Amino acid sequence: MNVKIDLGKCDGYANCVIEADRVFDIDDGTGQAVLLTPVIGPELADEVRRAQARCPVQAIRLED
Ligand code: SF4
Repeated sequence: MNVKIDLGKCDGYANCVIEADRVFDIDDGTGQAVLLTPVIGPELADEVRRAQARCPVQAIRLED
């Protein structure tokens, strides 16, 4: 699965990092999320779905 972040929406709340710190981090320069692992296997899918659900601005997309 591919993970995408819409940087036009991301406001750096970091909920995604709390839920999935192997996939997301916050860039100190921009204050926005960055992907550590843009292509994930099934073992990370649950935590990325939790991150997606907790993103207050719906900036995270998962694509098969
Ligand atoms: S939770 Fe959403 S708004 Fe917050 S840093 Fe992650 S992607 Fe950006």
